[in-house]
Amino acid sequence: MSTPATESIIIVGGGHAAAQLCAGLSQAGLGARTILICEEPLLPYHRPPLSKAFLKAAEEQPMPHRPSDWYEQAGIQVIAGDSVVAIDRNARRVRLKSGSELAWHRLVLATGTRARTLPALEAPLSNVTSLRHAADAERLRALLAGAQRVVILGGGFIGLEIAATAHAQGKQVTVLEAAPRLMGRAASAELSEHVLNSHRTNGMDIRTDATADAFEIQDGKVTAVVTAGGERLPLDVLVVGIGAVPETALAEAAGLTCSDGIIVDAHMRSSDADILAIGDCTRFDEAYTGRQLRLESVQNANDQAKTACATLTGTPAAHKALPWFWSEQGGLRLQMAGLPPAPGTDDQLIVRRQGAKPESFSLFHYVNGVLVCVESVNAPLDHVTSRKLLELGVSPAPETVVDASVALKSLIPVAA
Ligand code: NAP
Repeated sequence: MSTPATESIIIVGGGHAAAQLCAGLSQAGLGARTILICEEPLLPYHRPPLSKAFLKAAEEQPMPHRPSDWYEQAGIQVIAGDSVVAIDRNARRVRLKSGSELAWHRLVLATGTRARTLPALEAPLSNVTSLRHAADAERLRALLAGAQRVVILGGGFIGLEIAATAHAQGKQVTVLEAAPRLMGRAASAELSEHVLNSHRTNGMDIRTDATADAFEIQDGKVTAVVTAGGERLPLDVLVVGIGAVPETALAEAAGLTCSDGIIVDAHMRSSDADILAIGDCTRFDEAYTGRQLRLESVQNANDQAKTACATLTGTPAAHKALPWFWSEQGGLRLQMAGLPPAPGTDDQLIVRRQGAKPESFSLFHYVNGVLVCVESVNAPLDHVTSRKLLELGVSPAPETVVDASVALKSLIPVAA
């Protein structure tokens, strides 16, 4: 399935996946056939800074991937501040919130996720926020400026990155994580443990197996959280970082197969071959683990966009991309290559330390003697090299990687 130069491609969504697909289509000479529809009134921008640098300085602005004149030169029509409300598959048209309709030959859903909420917090509350979009980050930044006590629900990437930022600003931070450990979806138990201890040593109050049982609300504000254990935590700002829900409503209404994500094949095609989906909103068979997954990461968004671009330009190649993630939490730079073994898997863990520095090491996970995942803490070189090893399917012996005097780079076959 290629897209002849006379046919239009509509991309729904303005996140990282959409930005990468625009770049690919422009490079393939299809920019003038591409229409990008972004719900936010902004060009696609980098999201990782929103929980870090953006919160620290009032003058920080969302950082666009590319400036508006790039889109103009590429011939890409950008419709920002509007959204698709319906897909007509038979007529091959989308209807926008503004009322207009647009025709497509190929449609790409890059609708992302929305922040999960709690029923008790659904009414507008002036000091409660989640973080997904630039507007949320602006709101949180303003709230933090006048706050001292910050309570964060959720000890995933969002919760911990915001916690570290607020802690560095001198706020009193408490994190309540419902699960028995931090970052349970993305990190191994050993990494979770290290991160927990490190944040606690730095003075953050982080609790696992901890939930909010009740919220005290006064004059449209949450004034305190009461934990399941009965403790009352007074607060100035409440951040809700309890996960993300894929935006599948459009796809479902259009009759596409969805199951906690839009189901796509190895070419990013949904159950309708002319409608593709990419990024956080998709569920797919991940090639390295063989598991059906939804991955919420910049890497996945970019790599799926490249696969979709190949499909749209008639040079299809089955998707295979090593999952990797990173998170910066104060002095902790966490980088993960590959996915940690599923809970209950009988794996072998090797710790590679960087000399005498306790805050700098990598965790090498082996399953059945094969390297499957490397988690690095303040060891960026380990991360970059491990990614290469995993992509190439090179599985160095545990006794080799444990020896910090052996440069990991030397384990990459010369031909690669
Ligand atoms: P997340 O990684 O799913 O973490 C949310 C955590 O909150 C989970 O451990 C969850 O436990 C827990 N939780 C659920 N309900 C709770 C409750 N009522 N009280 C306390 N804890 C509760 O999601 P996130 O941190 O909110 O991040 C949202 C999205 O942003 C994700 O897509 C994430 O990947 C992305 N993001 C990525 C980065 C990065 O890659 N560095 C940085 C920021 C954000 P259960 O799993 O048991 O529900």
